[in-house]
Amino acid sequence: MTNQQLMEQDLKYIFHPCTQMKDHENIPLIPIKKGKGAYIEDFDGNRFLDCVSSWWVNIFGHSNDYVNSKIKEQLEDLEHVIFAGFTHKPAIDLSKRLVEMTPKPLEKIFFADNGSSAIEISLKMAFQYFKNKGESRPLFVSLENSYHGETMGALAVSDTGLYKDIYKDILIKTVQAKTPSLHSEEEALADMERVLKENQGKVSSVVIEPLIQCAGSMRMYQPSYITKLRDLCDKYGVFLIADEIAVGFGRTGTMFAVEQAGISPDFLCLSKGITGGYMPLSVVMFTEEIYKAFYCDYNEGKSFLDSHSYTGNTLACATANAVLDIFENENIIEENKKKIDLIAKETEKFKDLDNVLEVRQRGMVCAIELKGYSVEERVGLKVFQSALKEGVYIRPLGHVIYFMPPYIFSEEELKRMIDTTYSVVSSL
Ligand SMILES: *Cc1c(COP(=O)(O)O)cnc(C)c1O
Repeated sequence: MTNQQLMEQDLKYIFHPCTQMKDHENIPLIPIKKGKGAYIEDFDGNRFLDCVSSWWVNIFGHSNDYVNSKIKEQLEDLEHVIFAGFTHKPAIDLSKRLVEMTPKPLEKIFFADNGSSAIEISLKMAFQYFKNKGESRPLFVSLENSYHGETMGALAVSDTGLYKDIYKDILIKTVQAKTPSLHSEEEALADMERVLKENQGKVSSVVIEPLIQCAGSMRMYQPSYITKLRDLCDKYGVFLIADEIAVGFGRTGTMFAVEQAGISPDFLCLSKGITGGYMPLSVVMFTEEIYKAFYCDYNEGKSFLDSHSYTGNTLACATANAVLDIFENENIIEENKKKIDLIAKETEKFKDLDNVLEVRQRGMVCAIELKGYSVEERVGLKVFQSALKEGVYIRPLGHVIYFMPPYIFSEEELKRMIDTTYSVVSSL
């Protein structure tokens, strides 16, 4: 089989995510045959350095020997079992470990199978918490430029027009406050306070992406905003939902981004890196107090009856445990510090280019924002195509080029990622 043959067959049947399919009249779709470590390889034998961890999930690269062995082990015993009325050891082990790793008041876990569903669950629980207490609070608050997923509730709290605008008429009611990634911290906090004050008694929760608004062009802000937002949420009696679907599991330099703010959210949503890109899985973590609001006799009608068919999938939980083993055994958070410094040092040179507006970095995420290009030029696409010819896979967000490498990249691989991109950007 060749790339060409597989592409033709694919295009006969498949509608791909986040893709204008007509683009594939000119841009080849790439069938991947295998992946190992930092590389993926197509059917014509081309190898690409995967600098975006395959949409931010493969945090330990591809086909990790240890994870593979743990999946095979689990496969011999149990692949999946209904998660209502039954349970299994991988889910119990994983829950215990996550509770131990995260800030103290997060003591209970609800499982789902993708990030958007985790967001839906946190929104539904926040709303129902107040309902169970006899209050109706139908409004959710989020930040400008936010992204929380593609299902209707998640889209409603998002603020990325490209994905949201078309559906405006059919979305639940939300309010977006100014984001600290585009305004000063004082301005963003003042606007948040205004929103909470104006809508007092109507808001159940505020949802944020801690430290980095990833899909929103990798815009970053300081932990101090989150610390102060925590105070505001307490002052106005609303829940704080931390969407760490993209930034959890070491992306910002600490295991979880909220650690840097020294606070705990009321809800913590995790997915993406949780299984190292092997299996769809997400969790929502929350406090004992929230758990208790749903705990009653069945006929009282206060139960939280959300479910998904693949909730708590056994293989996915076993995979997540293997991922956590790697974090522990290989001291990943500490080891990443050298890589974070190297990325900072090696990307300095972009700042001298005339077509670069800004270089921003937090932990293992680095973004290079270009300037002087119209939207129609699709400069990101050009950068993607040129880098790909050199065997480096990056996937810019418009005119913002970014790196989200797997933590297993060697120094050489990190340098190759940066230097290849530099030569592409400097010759645009
Ligand atoms: C990817 C993402 C989501 C949605 O997760 P899916 O698994 O794609 O549904 C939600 N929030 C953030 C911050 C994300 O990056």
